[in-house]
Amino acid sequence: MAKVKKKIKTIKIDLDKCNGCRACEVICSAFHANPKYSSNNPARSRIRLVRAPIRDVYLPVYAGEYAKAECAGRDKYVIDGKEYKECDFCRASCPSRDVFKEPDSGLPLKCDMCEDDPPQEKPLCVQWCLNDALIYEEREEEVEEEVKMEDVEVGLESLVDKYGLQKVMDTVARMSTKE
Ligand code: SF4
Ligand code: SF4
Repeated sequence: MAKVKKKIKTIKIDLDKCNGCRACEVICSAFHANPKYSSNNPARSRIRLVRAPIRDVYLPVYAGEYAKAECAGRDKYVIDGKEYKECDFCRASCPSRDVFKEPDSGLPLKCDMCEDDPPQEKPLCVQWCLNDALIYEEREEEVEEEVKMEDVEVGLESLVDKYGLQKVMDTVARMSTKE
């Protein structure tokens, strides 16, 4: 496979600085609303806050890959005496919970580093985090050329998992005759 230069974008999360204000959720959901900035429902955000103020737990988690099935084993973290619930650190859009799913359609959400149209120079959640809990970094690496899966393919895959291929194909065929 051919090697290509790739820009690796990283957001470092400094948990000690996060105060759970949820500004990151607000701006992410507004940027990804349709039309843009028409709403700011945190359920549409690609970053979600795990909040437990009594235990001083504020954990920003970014939406990652879509998972077809929930995993059999679970992890529990204890950091500085604070115990996190199972799945708190998980980034997957998975059948076992409601986070990282578009609330109307149920389609999986994934952080796109604000490369959506118009692409942002710096992720908006980083820009809106006034406590500097989110720190953006970039570097270049040589990697093997990957075949990028389009969002529409990921969405279709999740619909096929949920309803079966035949039902999705029948629905698309029915919709196309309506147009
Ligand atoms: S980088 Fe952009 S898409 Fe990703 S969580 Fe932050 S605001 Fe949302
Ligand atoms: S904007 Fe920053 S401080 Fe506020 S919840 Fe998000 S990560 Fe935490």
